Amino acid sequence: MDHFVILGAGECGARAAFALREKGFDGDITLVGAELLHPYERPPLSKAGIADTSDPKFIAAAEKYAESNIRLRTGVEAGDFDTTSRTVTLSDGTMLSYDKLLLATGASARSFPGAPENSPHIRSLRTHHDAAALRGVMKPGRHIAIIGGGFIGLELAATARLLGAEVTVIEGLERVLKRGVPEEIAHLLTERHRAEGVEIRCGVSIEALTEEGGKAVIRLSTGEVIEADLALVGIGARPNVEIAEKAGLAIENGIAVDTYLQTSASDVFAAGDCCSFPLSIYGGRRVRLESWRNAQEQGTLAAANMLGRDEAVSSVPWFWSDQYDMTLQIAGLPEGAATHQRRDLGAGAFILFHLDADGRLIAASGIGPGNAVARDIRLAEMLIAAGAHPDPAALAASDIKLKSLLAA
Ligand SMILES: Cc1cc2nc3c(=O)[nH]c(=O)nc-3n(C[C@H](O)[C@H](O)[C@H](O)COP(=O)(O)OP(=O)(O)OC[C@H]3O[C@@H](n4cnc5c(N)ncnc54)[C@H](O)[C@@H]3O)c2cc1C
Repeated sequence: MDHFVILGAGECGARAAFALREKGFDGDITLVGAELLHPYERPPLSKAGIADTSDPKFIAAAEKYAESNIRLRTGVEAGDFDTTSRTVTLSDGTMLSYDKLLLATGASARSFPGAPENSPHIRSLRTHHDAAALRGVMKPGRHIAIIGGGFIGLELAATARLLGAEVTVIEGLERVLKRGVPEEIAHLLTERHRAEGVEIRCGVSIEALTEEGGKAVIRLSTGEVIEADLALVGIGARPNVEIAEKAGLAIENGIAVDTYLQTSASDVFAAGDCCSFPLSIYGGRRVRLESWRNAQEQGTLAAANMLGRDEAVSSVPWFWSDQYDMTLQIAGLPEGAATHQRRDLGAGAFILFHLDADGRLIAASGIGPGNAVARDIRLAEMLIAAGAHPDPAALAASDIKLKSLLAA
């Protein structure tokens, strides 16, 4: 009987395991996860969910794994795998043989260069365990310095304010969300954070981050010193490629896979945050995404391809972020857009449609209260997938339904 082994029991690995069963695989499946908890959702960790002291939001109830005959091994790390003998060595000394292997090892939070490790006053956020540690500090009378004005930093800033803490965001670049978010939207979010009482400081470089006298101490290049009860480092994530690298697999900003999520080793696949892949709708440009839906979709796709289906990656990248009552959604990759058109949707919500130099719609970024932009972003996604060159004036005209552009 075939044995499929999945390394990494996060969003992608868990989805792949269930998808193998849904697609009719009746061999053995082992899902190996380094964390003690069984697979859970990460997005709630930086949002209002952090205030909830209960269990994380599990991807599936524990008994579902047994019911689907998925052998879930938690609290065990894969230290090595060998593509010749087709074996994986786990941290508890167990050796597993595989017929097909999926690497779904995700990413880890980047640490601040030179900052002390394991300080209770300097932390980052990737796991439920990390979130539990932050929860106790996010309260009135505490000062939290967030290093990095990216999605996780800003979501945490909003959550910390909702919980009553004082918050300072320190961003090295001239504005927050510089990577992948248009200036108009970043500006609106900055203003909203400021109105909520968050101090946002951009274009500020940090000389040193240390722990002194029970505080995090941040020395800026200007000579200024900021003290905080907690410095939360939100400067991005790095793909977990170590075991793939040791096994000799090609690495290129993540574990390099082809359009079928196949790595450079036969019968070894990679998916989710840990891999980079060619995105056909952008001319085969290699990208690595850190997004919940991508992890789910690639888990399902990897399962299909482990079963020999040869299904290519075709979906449009999609990402969301919640801050206060606002939701930002981005379909496609706005980088490299030549122009954009703005469509107002009422109640402060709007969408920017990003066009390339040939007039092709390559991305859409929208922001508004609650679900205000969801429907139109979904339609924009379909236009992007279709390679549409919509009339820019029609994109901007809110009385023209996007659906009609899709039909055209
Ligand atoms: C705080 C936070 C908020 C987020 N919010 C959003 C959001 O609002 N919208 C959005 O689209 N995305 C969001 N994301 C991103 C999204 O959660 C990730 O893209 C998704 O979790 C990636 O899934 P994954 O399975 O590829 O990797 P991961 O979720 O990182 O899972 C990988 C798992 O593999 C394990 N592992 C690693 N190496 C080994 C090994 N050698 N052996 C065994 N196990 C191993 C890790 O411990 C981990 O449990 C957020 C992420 C975080 C951290």
